[in-house]
Amino acid sequence: MNKLLEKVKAGLKKAKFDNVDLYEWRSSIVLTGRVNSWDEKIQAGYIAANKGYKGVVNDIKVVGAKTDEMAKPDIYDNSLEGEQFDVVIIGGGITGCSIARELSRYNITIALIEKEEDLAKHASGRNDGMIHPGIADKPSSKKAHYNIRGNRAYGKICEELGVDFQRPGSFILFNSPISELLLPILMVRAEQNGVDGYKFFTRRKVKEMIPYVTEKQFGGFFLPSAGVLSPYKLTVAMAENAVQNGVKILLNTVLLGFEMEKGHIAKIKTNRGNITAGVVVNAAGIWADTVADYATDRFFSLHGRKGVDAILDKKTGKYQPAIMAMPDLLSFKGSHTKGGGLITTPEGNLLIGPTANEVPTREDYSTEPNDIDELMKHLELNTKLKRTDIITYFAGIRACTYEEDFIIEPSSYVDNLVHAAGIQSPGLASAPAIAHDISKMVCTILKKTKEVKNKENFNPKRITFPELNKLSLEDRAKIIKENPFYGRIVCRCEQISEGEIKNTLHSPIPVLSLDGLKRRFRIGAGRCQGGFCTPRVMEIMSEELNIKLTDIKKKGAGSEILFNETKENVSYSDKKLKTMLE
Ligand SMILES: Cc1cc2nc3c(=O)[nH]c(=O)nc-3n(C[C@H](O)[C@H](O)[C@H](O)COP(=O)(O)OP(=O)(O)OC[C@H]3O[C@@H](n4cnc5c(N)ncnc54)[C@H](O)[C@@H]3O)c2cc1C
Repeated sequence: MNKLLEKVKAGLKKAKFDNVDLYEWRSSIVLTGRVNSWDEKIQAGYIAANKGYKGVVNDIKVVGAKTDEMAKPDIYDNSLEGEQFDVVIIGGGITGCSIARELSRYNITIALIEKEEDLAKHASGRNDGMIHPGIADKPSSKKAHYNIRGNRAYGKICEELGVDFQRPGSFILFNSPISELLLPILMVRAEQNGVDGYKFFTRRKVKEMIPYVTEKQFGGFFLPSAGVLSPYKLTVAMAENAVQNGVKILLNTVLLGFEMEKGHIAKIKTNRGNITAGVVVNAAGIWADTVADYATDRFFSLHGRKGVDAILDKKTGKYQPAIMAMPDLLSFKGSHTKGGGLITTPEGNLLIGPTANEVPTREDYSTEPNDIDELMKHLELNTKLKRTDIITYFAGIRACTYEEDFIIEPSSYVDNLVHAAGIQSPGLASAPAIAHDISKMVCTILKKTKEVKNKENFNPKRITFPELNKLSLEDRAKIIKENPFYGRIVCRCEQISEGEIKNTLHSPIPVLSLDGLKRRFRIGAGRCQGGFCTPRVMEIMSEELNIKLTDIKKKGAGSEILFNETKENVSYSDKKLKTMLE
């Protein structure tokens, strides 16, 4: 037995994994056998990781556990049969959409397939929206490299796409005078990673900047390059600009498998027919290992790490002008999370979180009372915040490899496959840089068979329409004069008008659900959570899209809002409404 295998075997034996077996496959290590709990499976994976293998494939079965099925659209037709593209991207999260936009600079045909009825429905719409400064990861990691480059790219990209982006900066607060002794280590890490503009703030200076900061702080390390944006708005904006530059976004389209011919993807099998591509990009988030498996190239396994966040009322934003966390730096070594904290959003809400817990399910976004309790420690960082400021909660799932790093590379065994996998945090912050490098890899493959040139008419600017809540009173008056629908406020919490809803419903990517509208401009994301505006929004959707009210869903299949009339012979004063229901 070779030395590497020996090392992993010894590690597993020491941890008493007697029912776990292992073998080498290509340059990876595969674990098989049985354990009694999910935590044990994860622990075994980590024992095998970073021992010199390229990846860990963890096929250990957990006694009594159910298999975790991917949610798929219920549409099956042949509408895409025979379509050919130079590039097909799997996955409509921030990774896939950024790659689509980046590739749309070239004279090639591109399709992005997304299994859901909208973009950003998984990790990319369920995160903290923080453009991390790039200090958290080891200097040798891909995560650190792409984070720093991505962070620097965001100012220009957000300007081009018309997406709000701010750099409030972030504090790592010290929770004891002893923690302050770690300052030189933080400085060396920041220097090695190339973090921009970092500095130490004394206790007094922190208080000057954040007047309501806890008295329990002992100064902090300030990272001014930390930014915030709306992750779902950004994902949609990337995709809209890609569409404006010729990309096809195919929603409700799931990759079901590949037809392989001698290390080449010959056919891409979907629920809407078989298509072909010169190059396939695997940007499938938590399912990227399944996609790799379809291509017989599964050299890594992904495991889900759930993060729960609480959203606080908009009135709290003014109390917290910068992002802030107080991790226990002395016990931080070996942790797989940045620890969470208080994040100021561009809209003025605060986020508290996220938590980080290993979970056996890949798409279960439920939240539990103990998640919420875990978040409360962050609330204490600011003396103005109260539990009653919390509006709602959400959860997301990070796609983690056992090596805890991104996989950004062309496949070593399939000549037309490129992986953008294991994109856990800081995947949002890194997206522009990942997209840049993946698009270069794609072009290198394509150039073997065709000429790839920059498109002369590529337009980096997304076409946008005015957002009422960002305008001065004079500008509002002007817009309302031009388009009276802007004068009718539908969402009172977020100040969104009928004009904006109508414009959004006719934007380049179809909006097919209430949550789809929310992802575009936060309608229903305020204090009342859609309690007041939903009926009117549904009426507008029904009228504009010419669909029945009963066809409108909250978030795709199985989330119907109205089924039928509750009473017979109801006399509607508004005949139109009755028609919409029928
Ligand atoms: C709670 C939480 C907080 C976070 N906070 C931050 C943060 O502040 N800053 C930061 O930089 N990062 C953060 N992250 C990480 C960040 O959210 C992810 O790195 C990023 O969103 C990953 O994007 P993605 O496009 O790779 O994956 P996803 O967003 O998951 O997209 C993958 C897409 O592929 C689709 N798909 C999968 N399989 C198929 C198939 N077979 N056919 C068709 N489509 C398929 C899925 O439906 C999905 O839409 C956080 C993550 C979590 C969970």
